[in-house]
Amino acid sequence: MSRRTTAERLRRAGQRVTQQRLLVADALVAAGRQVTAQDLYERLRRRDEGIGRATAFRALESLVAAGVARRMELEGHVYGYIACRPDHHHHLACQRCGRVQEIAESYVASVTRRVEGDLGFRIDDARLDFYGTCAACMAASA
Ligand SMILES: [Zn+2]
Ligand SMILES: [Zn+2]
Repeated sequence: MSRRTTAERLRRAGQRVTQQRLLVADALVAAGRQVTAQDLYERLRRRDEGIGRATAFRALESLVAAGVARRMELEGHVYGYIACRPDHHHHLACQRCGRVQEIAESYVASVTRRVEGDLGFRIDDARLDFYGTCAACMAASA
């Protein structure tokens, strides 16, 4: 995800494009797994980006508002954040290593079609994520 794409997505969502927001988005992409806001802030500090905690947390929220980042619920009512592609998709979140894989809308299309057919409900948006153990963690524990 390039900075230009991130800036474009922020702009389209009516969010201001700031250096801090782009930095936070970069760090989130670099993390490549779900991280808590605190984790992310510590990563930024290690890179010596000179960004304050409150600023980093606010930047994260504006990235969520623009769909650049997504907030996922972890065990113990903690939130994890991940970077997200622009098109609609769902997630496979590994509860062991924290990696999050994106899966295409087509995997859940049959479920939404069935609900619409059976219940006469028109679905405009579906947020469906799957939590479990990734293939690498399964292999490691086998
Ligand atoms: Zn995503
Ligand atoms: Zn895993």
